[in-house]
Amino acid sequence: MPKKTNRNTKYIFVVGGVMSGVGKGVTTSSIGMILKARGLNVTAMKIDPYINVDAGTMNPTEHGEVFVLEGGLECDQDMGNYERFLDTTLGDGNYMTTGAVYQHVIEKERNLGYKGKCVQVVPHIPLEVIGRVKRAGEKAGADVVVVELGGTVGEYENILFIEAIRMLKLEQPDNVTTVMVSYVPVPNKIGEMKTKPTQHAVRALNSTGVHPDFIIARSDHALDAKRKEKIALHCNISKERVISAPDVDSIYDIPLSFEKAELSDLLLKRLSLKPKSPSKLGPWKTFARKASKVSHEVHIAVVGKYFDTGDFVLSDAYISVLEAIKHGAYKIGVKPVIHWINSKDYTKGVKKGDLDRYDGILVPGGFGETGIEGKIHVIEYARKNKIPYFGLCYGMQLMVVEYARHVLGLQGAHTVEINPDTKYPIIDIMPEQKKLMAESNYGGTMRLGAYPAKLVQGTIAKTLYKKNEVSERHRHRYEVNPEYIEQLEAEGLVFSGQSPDGVLMEIAELPNAVHPFFLGTQFHPEFTSRPLSPHPLFVGFVKAAKEYRGTQK
Ligand code: GLN
Repeated sequence: MPKKTNRNTKYIFVVGGVMSGVGKGVTTSSIGMILKARGLNVTAMKIDPYINVDAGTMNPTEHGEVFVLEGGLECDQDMGNYERFLDTTLGDGNYMTTGAVYQHVIEKERNLGYKGKCVQVVPHIPLEVIGRVKRAGEKAGADVVVVELGGTVGEYENILFIEAIRMLKLEQPDNVTTVMVSYVPVPNKIGEMKTKPTQHAVRALNSTGVHPDFIIARSDHALDAKRKEKIALHCNISKERVISAPDVDSIYDIPLSFEKAELSDLLLKRLSLKPKSPSKLGPWKTFARKASKVSHEVHIAVVGKYFDTGDFVLSDAYISVLEAIKHGAYKIGVKPVIHWINSKDYTKGVKKGDLDRYDGILVPGGFGETGIEGKIHVIEYARKNKIPYFGLCYGMQLMVVEYARHVLGLQGAHTVEINPDTKYPIIDIMPEQKKLMAESNYGGTMRLGAYPAKLVQGTIAKTLYKKNEVSERHRHRYEVNPEYIEQLEAEGLVFSGQSPDGVLMEIAELPNAVHPFFLGTQFHPEFTSRPLSPHPLFVGFVKAAKEYRGTQK
């Protein structure tokens, strides 16, 4: 049996039925949020069933954005959703993959941690999972741990995690509940809402010994009474626990629509948990209302490359960037219209007027050569035409490369990531990274997680942050080459944020008098922006875009 814990922590497992990509992450975040609004201490976890030890080695076109936690773990983008909805900072222990679990169990076995026992897939893998779930709850002092299991029921991949749910429920029947997020299609040709896939998904889950207590029925449309009854009857769940979750305009409305169905009350009742307060969703409601009401548009071009998967466009690769733009925009009362620009389209240069319909241009983080010259051309255009520009990580490094090439006149200046033999290595590899790369030691070895930066008086960064020192999350191997700093500064580039020892350039900008907003960060401010507390640099960028639009009229 799993080790007992003292606290009476409750566990809500969220599993997927029918298919993935129907909003399990936002559902998990929203469940956490409505329970937090009842005065409870809530933490959220994600389990990813793939073998990768973390998400850091995956191409974003495979699996969306790689989110970075404060502690430095590279994880799934859903962790970002949890942090944003719960307005909390999660620990590295709140995320696990099959790879991480197995790696630990095997290491423990090698260290005689199982004291001579035969170490088996069951029970030892689920026990390790349960241990992690409990520890995350304990560490957060949580009343409730909401755990999202990636993938859908019926897949081989997540069977051992479902086994963990079964075992924990056997140990603590009153403390564990399972929510299935299912998809209820309305096939075009049939024109009727079909519940059969959901029935099959519940049966698949039942075959593992787990029964869902709740079904969140995702669909284009709201469930009608007939469909609700049908799901309830065939899936063996009372009617009020079948929650209709139709498509909404904004993800921020989802917690509110869950509360219309009194989901927090139902969950608390199921778990015999007393709320500490009536539902306090006031600030969130105000925010969601604001988000739906703004009409004054600001057009932001996000210039990236992780868009195409086959014939489809995947903006998920930049989800935190998109959310951070929205937070900043709603704060100043404008509606952000995002244009996904493929940098490969500008490899040969930007034609006059091509980018003039955008009020702001953002180059997010990235790796490798594809589309890089396109990004540099776009940055040059933004600088020369005084279009507000915001560069994140790679977007900052390329902004410095562009400045070196076109203002300092250092032809062929580059980042050594792309051209190791460049005559002008403006962006160089960090010394400690060189060895790791030579050993092909790529997993979890970048400069990761939160590091402090000191801000320089009289700069845009300092004015926006209103602080002397900030802490921001990083994910990079390269940096502005210290040998070129003097030269860059002499030509007007300002390094407005620096590591406390003055070695690493964390923020670069042009003074206000020269350009309305031309700023880049070596770190990723998008990871810490929250709906109710937008990141100051994003607010500053969108504000500059709004003002720029004003001047164009
Ligand atoms: N490729 C760059 C580096 O490793 C930038 C990384 C990023 O944008 N996250 O430094």
